[in-house]
Amino acid sequence: MKSSIDPVQNLAQLIACPSVTPAEAGALTAVQSMLTPLGFAVERPIFSEDGTPDVENLYARRSGNGPHLMFAGHTDVVPVGDEAAWSFPPFSAAIHNGAMYGRGAVDMKGGIACFIAAVARHIEKNGGLNGSVSFVITGDEEGPSVNGTSKLLEWAKAKGESWDAAIVGEPTNPDKLGDMIKVGRRGSLSGTITVNGIQGHVAYPHHADNPVRGLVTLMESLLYPAFDEGTKNFQATNLEITTVDVGNPSFNVIPAKATATFNVRYNDAWNDETLMAEIHNRLDKASGRSKLRPDKKSPVNYDLLWRNRPSHVFLTHDEKLIGTLTSSVEHVTGTRPQLSTSGGTSDARYIKDYCPVVEFGLVGKTMHMVDERVEIADLETLTHIYERFIADFFA
Ligand SMILES: [Zn+2]
Repeated sequence: MKSSIDPVQNLAQLIACPSVTPAEAGALTAVQSMLTPLGFAVERPIFSEDGTPDVENLYARRSGNGPHLMFAGHTDVVPVGDEAAWSFPPFSAAIHNGAMYGRGAVDMKGGIACFIAAVARHIEKNGGLNGSVSFVITGDEEGPSVNGTSKLLEWAKAKGESWDAAIVGEPTNPDKLGDMIKVGRRGSLSGTITVNGIQGHVAYPHHADNPVRGLVTLMESLLYPAFDEGTKNFQATNLEITTVDVGNPSFNVIPAKATATFNVRYNDAWNDETLMAEIHNRLDKASGRSKLRPDKKSPVNYDLLWRNRPSHVFLTHDEKLIGTLTSSVEHVTGTRPQLSTSGGTSDARYIKDYCPVVEFGLVGKTMHMVDERVEIADLETLTHIYERFIADFFA
């Protein structure tokens, strides 16, 4: 048991595994070797789906009399990028000036290392837990996210598992430990518009139908007016056009086709259906506008293709869970954390269908960057926060 009470040692072991999605690379084996001596029953299901790599996952449970708390996270990491640009090899867990360097240090092997240490300390001090703790750890968070948390939760539920609350160990703090707890996430929706025109000579535009004119008209309708001004718990819904493609190498040919792709991050004033309807409505209305196509009688001829699965907006309302975590953070750091729904999506979007979920982990400043690193002091502080949270949650 001794070995896993130190978050720094735990993290060094995890960073040493080059578990770039979808490779397991020993990372789940390391987690298993830390949890088994603490009394956890560990399973490692592998999930598959056509067109995506197989991914190994881990579910570990230590059963006790009382509520069931889930800790969720991922051991996979994003690629290192330009390895030569790193101050230390990205899987060496080098310590320099009070920080441990390595891919995954904050996103999010560090969070896992701390939660394991916190559970180990709690068990050592109290001889056990007044309830059950489960680790839901995937190797597919940074990749396609198809053979990861969503399937692992379904798999566990099919075995009869259910949970009272969950904490995700993603790096939620923008600047310093204690800044921010995430209590919800915006939804995400992407689509591609294709405008079909008629190819022709630029000098004879009346014989052609330039799809770029139509596309600009449609894009403007998505960018203005704003979808909303934000809600009590969420930022304003925002649409960004991420690419515009015509692919026309010529200066004297009007192209036949033009496309644009967009992504919307949306708040709880919408759901994916109402938002899709709003976007269709804006495009349909705009397609008849003649400002940029004064000599064209027919509306802009376009198709809209929705990309991927939308990720749903959610907000957690569990007072006990949020209150317990907030007071644990405040007790240890002296800072009252902001409750936020900002930022990108996370696997919490799957967990929210099973139990209330919040997210709290390390400082995210260096995540996905060259020289990703964590302050050693932060590892100890986060372990304290988690330990306090576990004690209060099961009290
Ligand atoms: Zn992450």
